[in-house]
Amino acid sequence: MSKAKENSNQIFDAIVIGAGISGMYQLYSLRKLGKSVKVVEAGSDVGGTWYWNRYPGCRFDSESYSYAYSFSKDLLEEWDWTEHFSPQPETLKYLQYVAKKFDLKKDIQFNAKVKTANYDSKKTRWVVRTEEGDTFESTFLITAIGALSSPYVPEFKGKDSFRGKSWHTSQWPKESVDLSTKRVGVIGTGATAVQMITEISKDVGELYVFQLKPEYCVPLGNRKIDADTQKDIKKRYPEIFKKCKNSFGSFLHDFDERSALDVPPEERERFYEELWGQPGFGLWLGNFHDILTNQEANDTVSEFVRKKIKEQVDDPVIAEKLCPKDHGFGTRRVPLESGYYKAYNRPNVHLIDITENPIENITPSGIQTKESNIDLDLIIYATGFDAITGAFKNIEITGEEGQSLEEKWKDGPSTYLGLQTQGFPNFFTLVGPHNGSTFCNIPRCIEQNVEWVSECVKYMSDNGFSKIETEKKAEEEWTQHVYEVAEPSLLMKTDSWFVGANIPGKKRNFLMYAGGSPTYRAKCEEIVENGYEGFKLS
Ligand code: NAP
Repeated sequence: MSKAKENSNQIFDAIVIGAGISGMYQLYSLRKLGKSVKVVEAGSDVGGTWYWNRYPGCRFDSESYSYAYSFSKDLLEEWDWTEHFSPQPETLKYLQYVAKKFDLKKDIQFNAKVKTANYDSKKTRWVVRTEEGDTFESTFLITAIGALSSPYVPEFKGKDSFRGKSWHTSQWPKESVDLSTKRVGVIGTGATAVQMITEISKDVGELYVFQLKPEYCVPLGNRKIDADTQKDIKKRYPEIFKKCKNSFGSFLHDFDERSALDVPPEERERFYEELWGQPGFGLWLGNFHDILTNQEANDTVSEFVRKKIKEQVDDPVIAEKLCPKDHGFGTRRVPLESGYYKAYNRPNVHLIDITENPIENITPSGIQTKESNIDLDLIIYATGFDAITGAFKNIEITGEEGQSLEEKWKDGPSTYLGLQTQGFPNFFTLVGPHNGSTFCNIPRCIEQNVEWVSECVKYMSDNGFSKIETEKKAEEEWTQHVYEVAEPSLLMKTDSWFVGANIPGKKRNFLMYAGGSPTYRAKCEEIVENGYEGFKLS
């Protein structure tokens, strides 16, 4: 009997799509309630983001110990992070360790890509079909498909004619790639490219970076964790998680209550210097509270970072090209760097500003720009993702009346708490659009999302309910609240994946939740306390 046939029509309490950080914890958490769960995962192992993104230089931008799962004291005690910002291979090992410790893999179907997920009103069940031919049915459907998991590669003219190799950063081969004699082109300069360019520039033949908009990159400040620090971290875990719980983005950094404009210029400059010297997101998320809402306040820090960029780059013409001018610091995701700017001081690293010298087409031998033809052996697309809603479009999801989710969200997502959408009963979207976890040190908010969903499932079992759906009014109010909270933010006014502006044809909408994690969590708790206000339980 074929494997697909063997797996056909199995019925579970819940199907979880994706075995990354959220899917793994959702499985653990529902299993603890005694529920039967099947996780369906496209990759051949657990890890999600940290399984797919294995490009050189890939590592955390969050402090490792603030990113770890917090639900198991044993796990916290057993696992030693070796660096303050863990590199991808170590993170993947950590997630494999978690899967082994909690025996998760027995309920995960790997190498299985979900093609359709349809709510069958007669059966009152979700029916999930994979590209490989399996069918699973369940009472609940939970997506754990990641916010940045649908790669975007622009349609450059002639793209398929290239005779060398090419891939998107999230499709970096598992086997090692020797670039030491290669001519490599990287398109894009976002957070991914910043990490990767820094790493590959150390051992590449020639590197050509094709840049549209430069970013404001801040030093990561990574270090090894020594034995004493390790002990101290383990002792301080409760304090670390408490701090994350109370901060705006669930990071170890939180905004300063002062306005950038109320502080004398010399003091402000000293504060920026201090934040610049801190590891991680200090300058972004530990800064004056108004740098992301007040243009004048933002200008002060933007100018500070531009000055820092220029100090690191030898050639003033290149330095100028690396300085963002059309948007303010922190209004797009801030890349953290470990030698990115200095990479441009190497003779084999070449910056091509494609706002001045656009890519005309990809040729069989490389990239043709307006001014020159650059021969390449490899083209790496560091061109980002169809963020937050993109991964939903890769699955044909239909709800109660056969309504298509893609159709429903074509002009922008509409959700209640970023966790449910009306017309799709018993369907939960972990890290979904307009969910608090989208602007967050993600595992911290993933744990909140997962625990909220599990608590809801338990509440339903305990009280004899089998169906939960969002009320239209609650969804409208939440969606409006999301936009109202985002409105004063400079993030809203800047082009980035936060608003879908990176994908041609995608309607501009704020896709995240800008109210901060504590507010989001409080709202979720309040709704539960009020008997799942805004949801219809039957
Ligand atoms: P990204 O920030 O969206 O950057 C994509 C890059 O491709 C941008 O420089 C963009 O330029 C460029 N691009 C897009 N279309 C192009 C075109 N047609 N021609 C030339 N260039 C084009 O994507 P990313 O760097 O993959 O990062 C995505 C997110 O992943 C980050 O924001 C972050 O949240 C996450 N990430 C996290 C970590 C971490 O935690 N350690 C590391 C890496 C990434 P324009 O911006 O000018 O359009």
